[in-house]
Amino acid sequence: MSIFLPYENLKARIDEKFDQISSKYPKAFHCQSGCHQCCHPDLTLSLIEALALIDRLKQDEALALACVENEKQNPFQSSRCAFLNPHGQCMIYEFRPTVCRTHGAPLLVEIEDQRSKKSQEIVQSSCELNFTQGLKIQVGDWFNQHTLATMIGLFNQYFEEEVQPRFALKPSVLIAQQDLLIKYEEAILRAKEEIEEAKKANQEKG
Ligand code: SF4
Repeated sequence: MSIFLPYENLKARIDEKFDQISSKYPKAFHCQSGCHQCCHPDLTLSLIEALALIDRLKQDEALALACVENEKQNPFQSSRCAFLNPHGQCMIYEFRPTVCRTHGAPLLVEIEDQRSKKSQEIVQSSCELNFTQGLKIQVGDWFNQHTLATMIGLFNQYFEEEVQPRFALKPSVLIAQQDLLIKYEEAILRAKEEIEEAKKANQEKG
């Protein structure tokens, strides 16, 4: 079993929720194949997300090389993510990270109120092309940024670094970090064992 399974499961749940929200408000969504408005050039990944992507690219050398070549060609003159090919398609669409999966849907974010100095939660559209007529949605039809960050933070607890690095979402950066799979081998094995034990315990319960 892959240690990235809990993270992969989270991505599947995000996709499911995205589909639910977009089918509920079809007129508000303009997401379609070839649109890359949300593929910003400066997105970053946490450790578990970077390792999962490094692992996938390591398993598919041809794809990894194609991604690096595409980055060199720089089809969007650095105005878009380096994984976007000249046709505006994501070269790692199947295993793109969480940030790419929530984009386009409403987002519940925490902001600091300058006057009261208290933080408050607001819902905003995460893409300027969607919900242009206002966010008339039901409670819960959004992604909670804090909850997502907490869940990813829990997965990152397997790696006991005081300050965890972040990684640019770029083929050259990730491929150059393949040694991290060796560096974190022990943590990866420990996590794998914990996941297997939890799965066994669940099976015994159920
Ligand atoms: S990884 Fe893919 S979906 Fe995510 S920003 Fe880059 S091109 Fe877009």
